[in-house]
Amino acid sequence: MSTYHNALGTFEWLLREIIYWALQPGLIAMSLYLAHTNASLDTHSLFILLAFCTITLLEVLLPGRSEWRKNAGESIKLLGFVLVAGSAYVAVETLYAVSLFQWLTDLSHAWQLDFWPSEWPVLAQVLLIFVAYEFVNYWYHRATHRWAWFWKLSGHGTHHAFKKLTGLNAIANHPIEAFFLILPRAIVGFLFGGEAVGAGIVSLTTVTAILAHSNLHLNSAVIGWFFTTNRYHIHHHSQVVSESNTNFGCMCIIWDRIFGTFQDASTQDTGISDTQPSYKTLLMMPFKW
Ligand SMILES: [Zn+2]
Repeated sequence: MSTYHNALGTFEWLLREIIYWALQPGLIAMSLYLAHTNASLDTHSLFILLAFCTITLLEVLLPGRSEWRKNAGESIKLLGFVLVAGSAYVAVETLYAVSLFQWLTDLSHAWQLDFWPSEWPVLAQVLLIFVAYEFVNYWYHRATHRWAWFWKLSGHGTHHAFKKLTGLNAIANHPIEAFFLILPRAIVGFLFGGEAVGAGIVSLTTVTAILAHSNLHLNSAVIGWFFTTNRYHIHHHSQVVSESNTNFGCMCIIWDRIFGTFQDASTQDTGISDTQPSYKTLLMMPFKW
């Protein structure tokens, strides 16, 4: 019996070490490999689904914080909220496709804004668009935290209201925020035209965002120089406002390092109050002034 427990303990220790050292670099390497091989959007989507399921399973088995384990009721409610938010995202994307995106594409062609280095290796293009995309995201995100009216209007406060973070929280945004979250990609596309690597960046951004919200014990030492790790992003979700006004890069941390908002410190509690508001309150947040 004790030999069995020793073997189980060794296996758990080994699995925790693998997660700590290899999970984030491994998933990022796989995403970049898919980009390098010009994988289709379907392949990137399948990879995102597999990565999400793996991260969620590991969060249940070996959570970074055991008190953040969600019970079935909490998981189902969050999933329902994410489905509503996801539907809003698809609806806004469809609306933009026939309006704003069309207009920006026409304007981009009229002004001959075609600076994109399409002759570069695909991997270099993916990393360039990732950094450019995160530059716009960084300033949008910083603005939502800077001005109280924008915090309300954008619905960003809803994303911060959760007391327990898991990978699924990466897409737990107020439906209204879809109007803003889609814009950085459109702006980068307008200025540079980088649609050729569109599929290549999808899994890199999504998987990095899921990892940044995950409840797993991950290493930040090397990978965290460039990519946002959950230690940095959980700090951004801190209940302490001064701590929350750091680490605005949800996927790439380089802009925080450059613009002086980077902070590497542990985090006590997340959320915007001592208890998590009801989902009704979360949905009403942008409309209560
Ligand atoms: Zn934020």
